[in-house]
Amino acid sequence: MSPIEEVNAYVREAAGLLDISDDLLTVLTTSYREVTVQVPVRLDDGRLGVYRGYRVQHNGARGPYKGGIRYHPEADIDEVRALASLMTWKTALMGLPYGGAKGGVQCDPHAMSGRELERLTRRFTNAIGHVIGVQRDIPAPDVGTNAQTMAWMMDAYSGRYGHSPAIVTGKPLELGGAPGREAATGRGVVYCLAAACRRWKLDLATLTVAVQGFGNVGSWAARELVECGARVVAVSDVSGGLHDERGLDVVALLERADRREPLAAAAGHLGDATTNTELLELDVDVLIPAALGGVLHEGNARSVQASIVVEAANHPTTPEADKLLQDAGVRILPDVLANAGGVTGSYFEWAQDIQVFQWKEDRFNAELRDVMERAFCETADFAEGRGVSLRQAAFAIGLERVAHASTLRGYV
Ligand code: GLU
Repeated sequence: MSPIEEVNAYVREAAGLLDISDDLLTVLTTSYREVTVQVPVRLDDGRLGVYRGYRVQHNGARGPYKGGIRYHPEADIDEVRALASLMTWKTALMGLPYGGAKGGVQCDPHAMSGRELERLTRRFTNAIGHVIGVQRDIPAPDVGTNAQTMAWMMDAYSGRYGHSPAIVTGKPLELGGAPGREAATGRGVVYCLAAACRRWKLDLATLTVAVQGFGNVGSWAARELVECGARVVAVSDVSGGLHDERGLDVVALLERADRREPLAAAAGHLGDATTNTELLELDVDVLIPAALGGVLHEGNARSVQASIVVEAANHPTTPEADKLLQDAGVRILPDVLANAGGVTGSYFEWAQDIQVFQWKEDRFNAELRDVMERAFCETADFAEGRGVSLRQAAFAIGLERVAHASTLRGYV
């Protein structure tokens, strides 16, 4: 199955729990608009790189389209389409006044210089400028992009349409970014896990955790976990991972990451070497995939030893793996819930930009915690009430809200 077929399998499963007509389901399993653009970039060595860029707007019944921009060699139309659909269910589940979208440029940002990335970003922003807008579609960072990328997007857009900080979220603080937004996805992951632990009568401080991915999401999640007293026993990045049963020195690892030193280079003194594949199969309480999609699949799901999987990445679990894990009694906090702290923080940033009023970080974090806890409780209530998984519950709640708004607006 392709990524969009996989996401649609989850959508159809959830639709089976609700009263949704076939016509409406057709609307909700396809995108509203898909823009594919050519992004020619003059590279530093004089050659011309010609990249493909995408912006997919999945559903806008509940508000402006919202979702990140991914720079990755595998960011093709099918993946972007799937991720756009996930954003629709995520924003609805969290009760945010948005629809769902995603964008991407198929490129390898690690093989490009800062100037090349700036040219790419400006060209891409101009190419999709007519379909985005402060009240139309608001991009944000995702895999391979960051606050600097958003600053270039905001600048390129503002040059054409007038000063528009609210056109993107996840910006640097100096340009209208919100204190707390950068950490929001990782913190939200831990707020969600903490809410789950309270409900399941587990003490987070006694749990061992493995985190796959040490980028923005994984590293903030690891930091927050340590603050909650949990034992982070394994982390990894593209170079490989580190493992120590006694708990890793996450602060020292964060300092290395700030200096862009690969985790694998710390093997031997800050932990034992492990691989990204081995990390998923470690004997831990909690497994947090916080990197790319599709890492838990039919081939390795039976080897997962964790009893809780927290999906900090988008779509890390294929439907086959989801079934195998459920059959094995593993509890999964699904992506549309667990990593929704990012887009929730984006909503706070957008609202602040529109009001030209900046909140203090304490307020940001308190509001974020509230939204995460409320969404977790709603999802868990639905799951327990109907005897379904948290993923089915999360998709069903999102789907019901989007279906209702789509019907009220006369889409069907
Ligand atoms: N890229 C993040 C996500 O997948 C954040 C999206 C946003 O803030 O709009 O949820």
